[in-house]
Amino acid sequence: MITVNQDFYTLRCINCKTEFDERETCTICLKCKSPLNVEYNYNFIRQRLNLYALKNSPISALKYLTLYPILNLEKIVTLNEGGTPLHRCRNLSKKFGLKNLYIKNEGANPTGVFKDRGTLVEVTKALEMRAKAVCFASTGNMAASVSAYCTLAKIPCYVLVPEGTPIGKLAQTLSYGARIIQVRATYSECATLAEKMAKKYGFYLAGDYAFRLEGQKSLGYEIAEQLGWKAPDYVLCPVGVGTNISAIWKGFVEMKLLGLIDSLPKIIAVQPENCNVVVKAFNSKSKKLIRIDKPDTICSAVAVSMPFDGPKVLKALKDSHGSAVSVSDEEVLMTEQSMAKEEAIFVEPSGALPMAAMAKLTAHKFFKKDDVVICVATGNGLKDPKSAVKIIPEPPTIDPDMHEVDNYLKYKLYQIQSEGIKNKAKILWKKIPAEKDLKKIIHNEFGIEINPQVLKTIIDSIRAFETKGKNIIKQDLQNIIEEQLDEYSSKDKYLEIIDFEAKTSKYKQASASIKIRYGEKILLGQATGVGAVDAIITALKRSIKEHDKMFIRLTDYNVEIFTGGVEAAVKVTMSAVDKNGNKIIAHATSPDVIVASIRAFEKCYNFLYLKNYKHGHK
Ligand SMILES: *Cc1c(COP(=O)(O)O)cnc(C)c1O
Ligand SMILES: [Zn+2]
Repeated sequence: MITVNQDFYTLRCINCKTEFDERETCTICLKCKSPLNVEYNYNFIRQRLNLYALKNSPISALKYLTLYPILNLEKIVTLNEGGTPLHRCRNLSKKFGLKNLYIKNEGANPTGVFKDRGTLVEVTKALEMRAKAVCFASTGNMAASVSAYCTLAKIPCYVLVPEGTPIGKLAQTLSYGARIIQVRATYSECATLAEKMAKKYGFYLAGDYAFRLEGQKSLGYEIAEQLGWKAPDYVLCPVGVGTNISAIWKGFVEMKLLGLIDSLPKIIAVQPENCNVVVKAFNSKSKKLIRIDKPDTICSAVAVSMPFDGPKVLKALKDSHGSAVSVSDEEVLMTEQSMAKEEAIFVEPSGALPMAAMAKLTAHKFFKKDDVVICVATGNGLKDPKSAVKIIPEPPTIDPDMHEVDNYLKYKLYQIQSEGIKNKAKILWKKIPAEKDLKKIIHNEFGIEINPQVLKTIIDSIRAFETKGKNIIKQDLQNIIEEQLDEYSSKDKYLEIIDFEAKTSKYKQASASIKIRYGEKILLGQATGVGAVDAIITALKRSIKEHDKMFIRLTDYNVEIFTGGVEAAVKVTMSAVDKNGNKIIAHATSPDVIVASIRAFEKCYNFLYLKNYKHGHK
């Protein structure tokens, strides 16, 4: 067994300074519950460190092994983390009037997030300490990262996540084989529960503790290395628990101590407005961290009520003469788009926080033109794709027909993807505009042209909104347009709903009746069902039963609620397949879920009708 001298580091509480044996605790101080810090004997590190090798070997987190508190070098658990690109921003730097703006793209790590750097050390330590199982709380990324490494090390791993954790992160964690429990609680409550679970069952408690921080230092080392062994002027980093930003700072301090760089950067902490415990503390006179009970932000990875490493962050900001900034969720989502569209780097919302702060800071002329500024893009956009598609309209769907491609280009339908994201909640008019005014509004808001036929159907949908007594906000109009764009291929409706009625009550089955036009015929249908939507769709199917030869089956049904302004509108997505295996996915938007469902069904039916009976005759 290759083991190194046990005197090379100690674990000490940052508050009461008590020293602990790592077998006793490696997470929180047993006396005052404060975070612990790993303190090194740097003379010992200097003896082991081969500066020549360090400067001449390819970049990776593993080459800094001598700077991690690992005793048994035979048991390293690694997926080859770090060595992520330091991307020079060609386009955003122009926008901000800076010469040296970079993105450290941490989404390029093995599980798509910087946390892998910390997990390398943490799970290696778990193995070193012969953990029978690992348990921890997570907002999603820690879950994926730790479970990946536990899988490699063959250690069972239990994860507590808040209910509603983004699907990309859940899918990844489940696939690595973790034992996940979703908890109806915030991240901080999950963390308390994980602590109790670890104690009761003797599991190794993973999370934002001292050993993880040691691994994450390599983010700082690498920035210096990639700048040619120089510190930048500024590093902007999101803060959740605060471990990462503290680790980056410690990384730079150590590099200076070891003579690898000769200056230190200023650190800027960035948090969402609705969850900015550290920013508030830093900017207040008292510097006291005040818990936020219900963090409410799209940046789920930093939705932390009480940052455990908050004291370390405040110290890093103070020691580095740094600063702290909050930004709104809307600024974050816009920035997520501009990072992708200007620099081709797709991040999850939390990863966009630093660049969102750049927009704010440069507006106040915070930087000098020559400053070297690094934004840490903490996580990959694929982790939380829903946050992105929520603000970008769905692309139009067409049949494989060149005429439809012509339309797409002629009416500039691609514009809706780039223009449709600002001012979602704006109320667009007081009174329904005339056709030609509506055309103008659509052009101004979304940059697309609309042909007269589609314009008519859009007006119909708008009327339906107004009938239900709902103001149309920009998001609604976007959904309506999105829905109608697909209708380029179904100009004549074979099936059309004329009227319907649905009744539901707490104790009885729902019942519905419907009147439709089916070709030349007028048909009626009635049915009961478990709910109103179910009853209506059954009534619909029943009304056409003796004429229909397509035997449509619904394969998926999904309702999304768009909030914005006073009331919500829903978007229904329905998938259907006919007896010949033709498939269709249709969307419909309305303030009323039944109306949206009926319209989606109507669309499904008419599309499939065209497929079966019209295209065949061409
Ligand atoms: C964990 C995480 C953060 C926050 O890092 P802390 O160490 O908790 O401050 C930020 N962004 C992403 C994508 C994360 O996964
Ligand atoms: Zn203590």
